[in-house]
Amino acid sequence: MKKHNFTAGPCILAPEVFEGAAAAVREFEGMGLSLLEVSHRDKKVVAVMEEAQQRVLKTLGLGDDYAVLFLQGGASSQFAMVPFNLLTLNGRAGYLNTGTWASKAIEEADKLAPGQALELASSKDRNFSYIPKGFAIPSGLDYVHYTSNNTIFGTQMKAFPKADSLMVCDMSSDIFSRQLDYSAFDLIYAGAQKNLGPAGATLVVVRKDILGKSGRYIPTMFDYPVHIKGESMYNTPPVFSLYVSLLTLRWMDAQGGLSEMERRANARAAALYGEIDRNPLFVGTAATEDRSPMNACFLLRDEATHKDVFDGLAKEAGLVGLAGHRSVGGYRASMYNALEQSSVDALVDVMREVERRA
Ligand SMILES: *Cc1c(COP(=O)(O)O)cnc(C)c1O
Repeated sequence: MKKHNFTAGPCILAPEVFEGAAAAVREFEGMGLSLLEVSHRDKKVVAVMEEAQQRVLKTLGLGDDYAVLFLQGGASSQFAMVPFNLLTLNGRAGYLNTGTWASKAIEEADKLAPGQALELASSKDRNFSYIPKGFAIPSGLDYVHYTSNNTIFGTQMKAFPKADSLMVCDMSSDIFSRQLDYSAFDLIYAGAQKNLGPAGATLVVVRKDILGKSGRYIPTMFDYPVHIKGESMYNTPPVFSLYVSLLTLRWMDAQGGLSEMERRANARAAALYGEIDRNPLFVGTAATEDRSPMNACFLLRDEATHKDVFDGLAKEAGLVGLAGHRSVGGYRASMYNALEQSSVDALVDVMREVERRA
C-alpha cells in the first residue's frame, strides 16, 4: 500500500517525478547509459542544468541579473558561504532568529566574523512558536538574513521587513510554495530535499552585482563567483539531484505554477489546522497568525490517554513521518507541494476517529 508521506525532509515528490527519475536511472534520453554514469560535461547534462536554471528564474519571476546555482553541501554550507561573500571585513549583518536553522546560521557567521552578526530579534523565549515582529533594523548593515519557513517549529514569515541592506533568505522548506515578490531578495538558498528534489543539491539564486565586495579571502568552493563563472559546474555538480529537481520544476509548471502550488498548500493547511482547532483532543503549537502551510506542529492535550490510539490508527491508515522534532515533541505533519489533499483528509479522519473513541 502506498503510504501518506508527511516526512519533513527528504520528503514526498510527485509520482510523475519518481517515474521520470527511475526511467533516467535506467537509461538517460536514449543514450544507452544511465544518468548516473554520464559525464556532467555531456551536452545533455549541460542542457539539464541550463533548463533547470531558466525554469527557476521563470518560476520566481526573476531576470538574468540573478545567477542560479545547484551546489553541494546542503543549506548548512550556505550558513557560512553567505557571510564569506557578503559580510565585509568591518561590516555587520542582522539575523532574525526564528528557530534552529536560523540559530545555526547566526553561529556560523559569528565563527567567521566574531561579533559582526547581530541578532535582530528572537522568538527563543517561547520555543520559537512565533515570528518576532516590529523589531528595529539598524541602518547600514551589509545584509539581513531571514528564514522564511521554520521547518522544525512550524512557523512561516508572511512578510519580510525591508531595510537599507541586502536581503538574504533561507527558503529551504517553503521554496516554490507561494507567490511572493522574489525580486525583493538579493540571495535565496534552499536545500533541494524539502520541496524540490532528493538530497544532494542546494539551490542558490543570487543577484550577481552584489558579489565580490566582502574583501575576504574566500575558499574556492565557498566563492559564488567561482561557481557562476563555472556555470554551476566548477566541480562535479550533484547530477541526479539536479535532474530530479528539473523534473519537479517541469511538473510544477504543468500543474499551474506557483499560484496553483499556493492554492493547494492553502487548501491542505485549511483542512488540517481547521481540524486541530476544532478537535478538543489536539492543540497547535505555533502562533495562529504565523502558522506554516508546509509544516504543521500539534500536540495531543492528553498524550498519556490518547497517544497509543492515535499512533495505532495513523499506522493502520498508512500515515508516515508524523513524529514531531525532538525539540517540540508531539506531531509534525509536513505538507510539501506534492502531498495530495487526500493524504491530509486521511490524517483528519484519524484525528476524528481518536475523538470518537475517546
Ligand atoms: C533542512 C533545513 C536546513 C538544512 O538543510 P541541509 O541541506 O540539511 O543542510 C536549513 N534550513 C532550513 C530552513 C531547513 O529546513
